[in-house]
Amino acid sequence: MPELPEVEALREFLDENLVGKEIARALPVAISVLKTYDPPLSALDGTTVTAVGRHGKFLDIEAGGLHLLVHLARAGWLQWRDVLPSGPPRPGKGPLALRVALTGGDGFDLTEAGTTKRLAVHLVHDPADVPGVARLGPDPLADGFDREAFAALLAGERRQVKGALRDQSLIAGIGNAYSDEILHAARMSPFKPVRNLGDDEVTTLYEAMRGTLAEAVERSHGLAAGRLKAEKKSGLRVHGRTGEPCPVCGDTIREVSFSDSSLQYCPTCQTGGKPLADRRLSRLLK
Ligand SMILES: [Zn+2]
Repeated sequence: MPELPEVEALREFLDENLVGKEIARALPVAISVLKTYDPPLSALDGTTVTAVGRHGKFLDIEAGGLHLLVHLARAGWLQWRDVLPSGPPRPGKGPLALRVALTGGDGFDLTEAGTTKRLAVHLVHDPADVPGVARLGPDPLADGFDREAFAALLAGERRQVKGALRDQSLIAGIGNAYSDEILHAARMSPFKPVRNLGDDEVTTLYEAMRGTLAEAVERSHGLAAGRLKAEKKSGLRVHGRTGEPCPVCGDTIREVSFSDSSLQYCPTCQTGGKPLADRRLSRLLK
């Protein structure tokens, strides 16, 4: 799933390649992808893209005073096309969900792999009209988001640190992969309750969060859209690396599985050498 660093890199890419260009047509190909109907998608035809922004994991393409908000969800992606194929795309087959054709013959496709369709596109007058955008917490890389602002967010938080970091309404843009990376950098158990964090640990977590995300954005900087996914994978130290050696201490990276996801961590770096209980595994052993 694209998270803050990948969406930010896509934003930069589109800022360079899309701003100033005229939209010929925006075509929904998968019926479920478009979540709004007023204004219609055809309102974009003939408009010029004026800006590309980001809200958490949402891309915000501004054209003709309207905002095309794109949430790529778990398996969605944006593919830039220097030359779009002529002829209309065929609905119902393949991963193509929506196509934006520019008057110059180039454009981009929004695609989604797999059978679970979660990619969401909204066309609105104001980004805050999209509930998922309206409830976003602060951006962790925003200039004014300092350690005190982070500590204030965590005050009264009753969840474990992994769940809190992934909550978009608490803090925007961090998902399953970067929360694993941040906690590894902070040498902290994903299951540690936020209310048990001391002042020093809040500082450590804040620095790990800013450092990990800024580093990932920096790595992705200037990469074409097509290369971002590979770059994300190569930059991750623990996430998706079950069974591999920890790049810091050499211990074996372990995982905890849930019904629809899993987390990865290093026992030596994060949990005092003790493996965390894996509920799926314990169920199997009963
Ligand atoms: Zn380690």
